[in-house]
Formats: sequence, C-alpha cells, structure tokens
Amino acid sequence: MRSFQVCECGAPLQLRESATPQPTGTEVLLQVTAAGLCHSDIHVWEGQYDLGGGKVLRVADRGVTLPLTMGHENVGRVVALGPDATGVAIGDERLVYPWIGCGQCAVCLRGDEQLCLKPQSIGIFRPGGFADHLMIPHPRYLLDFGGIPREQAAPLACSGLTTYGALKKFGGLLKDQPLVMIGAGGLGLMALSILRAMQGRGAIVVDIDENKRAAALRHGALAVVDGGAPDVIEQIRALAGERIWAVVDFVGAGSTVKLGTDLLTKGGHLVVVGLFGGEITLPTPFLPMRAMTLQGSYTGSLPELNELLALLRATPMTYLPVEKRSLDAVTQSLHDLRDGHVIGRVVLTPN
Ligand SMILES: [Zn+2]
Ligand SMILES: [Zn+2]
Repeated sequence: MRSFQVCECGAPLQLRESATPQPTGTEVLLQVTAAGLCHSDIHVWEGQYDLGGGKVLRVADRGVTLPLTMGHENVGRVVALGPDATGVAIGDERLVYPWIGCGQCAVCLRGDEQLCLKPQSIGIFRPGGFADHLMIPHPRYLLDFGGIPREQAAPLACSGLTTYGALKKFGGLLKDQPLVMIGAGGLGLMALSILRAMQGRGAIVVDIDENKRAAALRHGALAVVDGGAPDVIEQIRALAGERIWAVVDFVGAGSTVKLGTDLLTKGGHLVVVGLFGGEITLPTPFLPMRAMTLQGSYTGSLPELNELLALLRATPMTYLPVEKRSLDAVTQSLHDLRDGHVIGRVVLTPN
C-alpha cells in the first residue's frame, strides 16, 4: 500500500509503502479511485488555524497526530470485507462519509456523528484517501452515488455536504430572496450548483479574484461583485435590494464576516462556513437590535449526505470544474490550492 503522509507540518508529503491492511469485524477495504483535495487539508498540513490577532489554534491541540494520511473526499472500490461487513459487495464503488464519530454517544446515535466530541474523521483523525487503499470501519459510511461521475461525487463528501448543510440553514429564505455568497472558490461554485438543485432564487457572488468571479458567472451566479471595491456594500445593495436577508460566507476571514454582518438587514441571517481565519469586533447591541442570526456551519450528517445524493440524482446537476491529477502530484497540488491557483476542485487518483 502506498500512502502520502504529512510527517512534518508544511513540508512535502512523504511517500510510505506498507503492507496492505486486511479488514476485520465490520471493516471494509477500498481501493481509492478518486480523492478530492480540500481547503481544510491546507490547515491540517500547515498544522494551524489563524484565530486573528496573532493567535493560532494548533491542529495538534484538536487531537490530530502525525504522520497522517490526509484525504477526506473519497470514492473507492470495495476490494475486501471483514466477516461482519454486510450491505456492500466486492467491486462496488462507493462514496465515503468521512465525518465519523465514536458511534456510541447520544449525538452519534441520533445521527449527528459530525458533532461527536470524540471524532474519528477519515483523513484527519484516521488515515484518509491520499493513498491507493483506504480502510472504512463500517459499511454504513459507504454511499451509492450511482449516476454521478466519480470525480464529481468525491467532493460531495466534504465540499458538497458542507455547502448543503450551510444552505439548508436558511430554510425558505432561499426560494424568496437572492442569497449573497462571499467566496467563489470550490465551495462557492459547488453552492451555486446545489442552490439551483434546491430551487433557490439564485446568488450574488462576491470575490476579490477576477477569474473566480468569471467562473461564478459561468456557473449561474445572478451577478458578481469585486469584494475589493471600495463601494462593495453599495454595489451589492444595488443588485440585491436594500434589505439583504441571507449571506453565506465561504471565506471566513475577519473582513468577510464583517462584510456579512454589515450587509444584513434587520432579522437577517449570516452563515459562516470558511476557515480562512481572523477575528471580528461586533458591537453586542447589534445582535438584538438587528435581530441578527450569526451561525457557523461545519460539514453535515450522514443522513444529510444521503439527502444530497438523492437531490442531485433527481435534479440534473451542473458539474463543477474538476482537474484530475495523479496522486503523486499531491504536494504540488496543496501548494497550488494554497496559492489560489485552483479553479473548482483538484481530484487525485492513484497511478
Ligand atoms: Zn474538506
Ligand atoms: Zn459520538
């Protein structure tokens, strides 16, 4: 088995060869066929999140240990089953739900494993898909994505599910009001697709990068605005109307969260998804006076991933730009993603 591992924060990933593990109990061994590269891989690789004001949250303090095989957006083919693994057969190709919890606590048992306090997430706390093989603890985490190409299905496990989980938080607002969407990276473009599948009214997309704004227009944005323009708020209001009810922030920098709160009308709702990092100062009376909802969203549940797959099967999906690369290019791809040179998604395949 070949795995590319983070052995030292920020350093090139190291290729390790080891004996291919054999599944026991309910375990299922997959041969990886597609592994998406996600922006959160950058944080794990670099070992920290920026909290603003010179403060950082170390990934090691979240319980992540090195060496680590990253990769949490995986599709793979079943090649071996433990004696207690049922529901899948050798040769089945499946999408992996990565946000695994302890499986024992009340939160896990109600289906919200992504909120478990003892997370076992694939590619973060246990080995992920930047390898040719991947061990899954139970077949319930393997989802049939039939009808969706594997390179498009892989990113649904994180970027798709995260986007869907965030958009769902706006409820009925999505059908009535244009959504202001900050950030047209992988998550933003995915959101435009999923918003259409959810029959939303559409999104006005804000990004500082001209190429990303152009990509957003190609993917169905109602309009785009340069986030670096001095009159960005006036421009957005001219497009969306004076009262802006719904803003989703896929960047999560101090400046973008501030833009989001500045835009909201009385009773408006801001959902923050991005982990770029930073901090905000918010006069506390604004929360009640503006009846503001400021909410964070982190991935989504196993039932939600099933829901998303059903939604995308029922509605023709606008596919995202995906660049297929060899797994051997993983370190270069991390650099490209960090430096903003990736439009859409990079999906890695072994060999
Ligand atoms: Zn991710
Ligand atoms: Zn749990």
